[in-house]
Amino acid sequence: MERPEPLEQMSPFDAVNCYFERAVELNGISSSMRDMLRMPASELRVEVPLRRDDGSVGLFVGYRVQHNSARGPFKGGIRYHPDAELDEVRALASLMTWKTALVDVPFGGAKGGIQVDPAALSATEKERLTRAYTRGICAVIGDHHDIPAPDMNTDAQTMAWLLDEYSQLNGWTPGVVTGKPVPLGGSEGREAATGRGCVVVLDEAARRLGWDEPGSVTVAVQGFGNVGSWCARIARERGYRIVAVGDERVTLHHDDGLDVDALARHHAREGTIQGFAGAEQLEPDRVLTLPVDVVVPAAVGEVIHIDNVDDVEARLVVEGANHPVTPWADRCLEERGVTVVPDILANAGGVVVSYFEWVQNLQQFRWEGARVERELRKRMTDAYTTVSTAAEENGNGLRDAAYGLAVAKVAEAARLRGAL
Ligand code: NAD
Repeated sequence: MERPEPLEQMSPFDAVNCYFERAVELNGISSSMRDMLRMPASELRVEVPLRRDDGSVGLFVGYRVQHNSARGPFKGGIRYHPDAELDEVRALASLMTWKTALVDVPFGGAKGGIQVDPAALSATEKERLTRAYTRGICAVIGDHHDIPAPDMNTDAQTMAWLLDEYSQLNGWTPGVVTGKPVPLGGSEGREAATGRGCVVVLDEAARRLGWDEPGSVTVAVQGFGNVGSWCARIARERGYRIVAVGDERVTLHHDDGLDVDALARHHAREGTIQGFAGAEQLEPDRVLTLPVDVVVPAAVGEVIHIDNVDDVEARLVVEGANHPVTPWADRCLEERGVTVVPDILANAGGVVVSYFEWVQNLQQFRWEGARVERELRKRMTDAYTTVSTAAEENGNGLRDAAYGLAVAKVAEAARLRGAL
């Protein structure tokens, strides 16, 4: 196959829009509606000053991109990462618009980030940075306007600081953020939700591939943070064989299956998966190309690309991370008959339970963990069924089917509201 370099050289936002454009065509959406749905509604850039522990002052750049709110308040996580540039945050914000529409939660799409290496921050510096960022974006967020959540290198504690800072300025507002600690109004099951949702779609895809016995399905997971670690643990509980886990430093591999709970204890103790006994240690990126049935990229974007896609041996890719596969690699995988469960479906479990958390905050009522799990499973299963049925009917892959459904829903909401 000839290599169309532009496909590979696309920025993250252009890559997401490449799928969006196909959905526009599929749905016969007008060019004016297309233009309106494509671009973010607003983009806020903030300078975030930080007084370091040694008394010096650092200055960081943060963003909050609000992509679309046709179906409800803006919604999306906040990441702390050196690569959290405007184009990347835009791409992630638009993914949220399509994701919330696809799983039918009444939100739009947004994303935030600070360009910072969190490994270089102490806990107190991270708190001061979060508070300064919150002051910078507080005019554009709110429990009925824009609701942040955790993403890469942010967690429940980060959301607690955000909630506290916002509430000091505006009064107690638990619904302004999701992914909070449970004692502050967080939901049972939110921490594990994205990983759990990945396993629901893994179950559905495996069933359709005729893989009835999880014990004979081998899985490799890239990333052992929030998404990867919960995905690996829950998949293991359901009987799948987790033969490899990798991060930026190492791939751990064991043909008989890793002891994922022991690995989680090692990770909690050491802060890294490196040095875990009882596994072969391979090159970091090897996790993506091992001879396994399933690969779950659950770390950073664009890890399956033009240079390694031919080496991917898995027959099923579950996109735990956002945009882990470049458009070129996606096309190669589709041509080889590899099933790819796209990010806007595979990792939507987090925003589904964020929605449950927000509902609980507004109602001032708590759900039990069992209810959260049951309703999450139902929503993810329904979404998978809808997408795979559309894919079969239209002769598409799951990604085109998912985008087709999501973009149609947002366009309909915008039209009904009289946007155009
Ligand atoms: P996290 O910070 O908790 O974990 C990230 C993991 O990726 C860590 O194990 C880290 O070691 C690893 N990693 C970092 N750089 C890497 C590299 N270059 N190569 C390989 N591994 C690397 O982040 P998370 O919340 O688990 O998010 C992971 C992905 O899932 C992101 O793309 C995020 O946008 C997406 N996502 C997260 C959620 C959520 O609820 N947290 C929801 C939907 C999607």
